[in-house]
Amino acid sequence: MFAETLRVDYVHSGGPGGEALTLDRAVADGPWPGSQTQLIDSTNLGTYFFEVIDHQDRPIYSRGFSSIYAEWATTPEMRTNTRTFHESVRFPWPTAPVRIIFKKRDAQNVFQPLWSVEIDPKSISATPGEAAAAGAVWPIVESGPASVKVDLLLIGEGYNTEQLPKFHADAARLVKALFAVEPFATRKTAFNVRALDLPSRSLSVERNVFGLQRYVISYDNRSLRAVSALAPSDVAAILVNEEQYGGGGIFNQQSTVAAGNQAAEYIFVHEFAHNFAGLGDEYVGNVTYETGTPVKAEPWEPNVTALLDPAGLKWRDLVEPGTPLPTPPGTRGKVGAFEGAGYQAKGLYRGEADCIMFSRNPVGFCRVCQRAISRMIDTYTR
Ligand SMILES: [Zn+2]
Repeated sequence: MFAETLRVDYVHSGGPGGEALTLDRAVADGPWPGSQTQLIDSTNLGTYFFEVIDHQDRPIYSRGFSSIYAEWATTPEMRTNTRTFHESVRFPWPTAPVRIIFKKRDAQNVFQPLWSVEIDPKSISATPGEAAAAGAVWPIVESGPASVKVDLLLIGEGYNTEQLPKFHADAARLVKALFAVEPFATRKTAFNVRALDLPSRSLSVERNVFGLQRYVISYDNRSLRAVSALAPSDVAAILVNEEQYGGGGIFNQQSTVAAGNQAAEYIFVHEFAHNFAGLGDEYVGNVTYETGTPVKAEPWEPNVTALLDPAGLKWRDLVEPGTPLPTPPGTRGKVGAFEGAGYQAKGLYRGEADCIMFSRNPVGFCRVCQRAISRMIDTYTR
């Protein structure tokens, strides 16, 4: 039985001179909220991957993840500027020294070693003790022990003490919207949802990330990790007390929503799907990432394909026999391969004509996304 969490903080920097990871520190990060049995990653999602290796060279834990760095690296700025981001990985507390191996996908989207670091758990003294400004945790959905549930933590940002009732109302409204769509509706009892009142400004959130006014993210990884440790948390979503449209979501890292915007329900669900299940955007254009380059490798996102091998389409089993691949635009109600996805008008395909990852239409998740989310829920509950 794993009782505690070990967290490794590191600095991820890069630019024209290349990419480098350096250790910041290893800390105790509270009780282990994750699965006791699903220790080795089976999803193959994320731009990055870390693996915890014991002294007998056996992997004892692994997970894929993405990062702000990974997104920044697809913007033109990285060719001229060097930037540094703070990141963390978490895993069950090991009984002896371990080696953490970090991997990154190459041009063919195959993981290749990037960096490794040795951690001796005996050398870690105490709990972080920083930022952890006292925050009050309160339950919204309670379904069972953290080890067999997805533990979702909603963190309030920018709500002062007088506005905490607004945070509570925003949180309740957004959680209701999440469990109104499939597969979350059917699998609600797989989730514990808690919310965290942070009356002071103990977490900072940035707008206009990568030159996109609507892109909201917290660069403040240390504070985010510190406040997330105040409750069992597999996945954290930040509710920003703002009315201007905005949000963001990074796989296995964080998601945000401008909770006061009239589209907040849509934004919350869409961004949470990036964060929780690694779903890609299915829409085309309107981003600062570099687009229009020929697609040479199959994307790792479970809901976007380059259709390089239609017979091996990763959601082939959801496609009715006789459905053409690619699927003609305008085909409704069918799973296929519709051109236009992942910001690219050409060369990338999505599974259905419409989806929460494609538009703001009230259509729910397409069947490809629903299954990807369900599979991720399984990794926390089985
Ligand atoms: Zn979809």
